[in-house]
Amino acid sequence: AKRDPGTSYRFYDRQLHISAGYQLRLEGDLRNALRGRELELYYQPRIDLASNEVRGVECLLRWNHPKRGLVGPDEFIPVAERSGLIVPIGYWVIEQACKRLKEAAELGFPGLVFAVNLSFRQFHDRKMTETIFRIIFNANVDTSLLELELTESAMMHDPEYAQRCLRELNQLGISFALDDFGTGFSSLSNLQHLPISLVKIDKSFVQDLGQSADAEHIIRAIISLAHSLQISVVAEGVETEGQLEFLRQQHCDEIQGYYYARPMPWADLVQFLNERDQS
Ligand code: C2E
Ligand code: CA
Ligand code: CA
Ligand code: CA
Repeated sequence: AKRDPGTSYRFYDRQLHISAGYQLRLEGDLRNALRGRELELYYQPRIDLASNEVRGVECLLRWNHPKRGLVGPDEFIPVAERSGLIVPIGYWVIEQACKRLKEAAELGFPGLVFAVNLSFRQFHDRKMTETIFRIIFNANVDTSLLELELTESAMMHDPEYAQRCLRELNQLGISFALDDFGTGFSSLSNLQHLPISLVKIDKSFVQDLGQSADAEHIIRAIISLAHSLQISVVAEGVETEGQLEFLRQQHCDEIQGYYYARPMPWADLVQFLNERDQS
């Protein structure tokens, strides 16, 4: 039977309506969340393979929604990006990370690196450097312990402006990591010309280890390329002993993944660090 175009249009329309309404509701909720302390950072340790020590943590955003419970970033970051809310949220994340950085030092973990994710959308803010500078100045932290993670595509909108931001922030002592490396437009010139001190191998490659010879080749190539440019390598999404052993053999510098620890609330991280310290 032929489809009635009227019906399918109505259906399509309603779908659009629902998703637009849903998006608006989520956006409103998110605005409140930022004001109402519903956002929280979780922390996932990064382990140095040579020393077996916790080198740093990645700060990962969570939303304690009053009705829906704990909401992960994959659900609300896209909404925050479309609405521009990611800009103030992003600054809140940096502020919070700086606070924890100081707290970590006071608790006896002084050298811990705090890595924060930057959205492409934050590079649309013409006051990015200035605002980040104000945050770290007010927090009075050791900027060499602050690392910003970005994807290469984050810089595509206005590469010149993005490069300038990176250089200025790097002059303040902040370092940069290329996230999800190998998945997008990886350009070797980015590695060479930008102040990048670290690349993070995307977890899709790590999780294909053992199933695809390509994954092995890609990981080997990334590590050898990065090392030849004096850039460190973190592998993310490490879940098994086998993956860990392969990465160790390839001289990967650090790993992050469920094998060692999941992202966790601050109190749990402090406990995790204390327990490792004693053992
Ligand atoms: P990402 O930056 O690639 O972060 C790594 C993601 O991998 C995290 O997901 C982490 O929980 C997950 N992960 C870590 N180890 C494993 C593992 O062994 N197995 C598996 N299956 N997953 C693992 P999460 O926390 O859900 O965050 C998802 C994405 O949301 C992040 O991906 C990042 O792009 C974004 N995001 C999180 N926090 C922020 C933030 O504060 N600002 C911005 N702009 N984006 C954020
Ligand atoms: Ca990241
Ligand atoms: Ca990543
Ligand atoms: Ca990702």
